Amino acid sequence: MIELMKLPFGYEDLEPVISKETLEYHHDKHHQAYVNKLNELLEGTEFADKCVCEVLKNLDKLPADKKQAIINQGGGVHNHNVYWSELDKNGAKEPTGALKEAIDRDFGSFDDFKEAFQKAGAGHFGSGWVWLVEKDGKLEIMTTLNQDAPISQGYKELLNNDVWEHAYYIDYRNKRADYLKNFWDIVNWDVVAERFAK
Ligand code: MN
Repeated sequence: MIELMKLPFGYEDLEPVISKETLEYHHDKHHQAYVNKLNELLEGTEFADKCVCEVLKNLDKLPADKKQAIINQGGGVHNHNVYWSELDKNGAKEPTGALKEAIDRDFGSFDDFKEAFQKAGAGHFGSGWVWLVEKDGKLEIMTTLNQDAPISQGYKELLNNDVWEHAYYIDYRNKRADYLKNFWDIVNWDVVAERFAK
């Protein structure tokens, strides 16, 4: 059984960037629903007791009749785990050390990176995620549709932002670009650096 991860902060701790009401729906309803449905789908398969990362790294081994449903629900569990874990209003506001060097090398500067990440997230059509990922030593910004996860394609996931409407509509209505801009106030770059160093 996969359990819903606990939020590593209180419901009011991300305000005003993300409200208590958004967190209550986003974590307690949306994320919980992905966990419940994934557990139903994995029951009786060899993945029933595995972590969700193992499921998403081994899509070829999933039963064909359930494969797309498991990608959707498993990604829904995993992508939110990545997201909640990197958020902290009091965390490090900027990358340092090797991560900063890699960002400067591959995007020009931290400001250039942030602008490109916001642009990719704002320009993504429909539901999905915007990501900072690494493969073969190179950093990339990418977007994924729905609940697709970069780890299924062999990427190391460093940072993501949820651009499904449920992530921002209560607080920002249709202004996704404002949500993407304010997101930087709650990213903890120490967590991103730990993922990069692994
Ligand atoms: Mn979401």
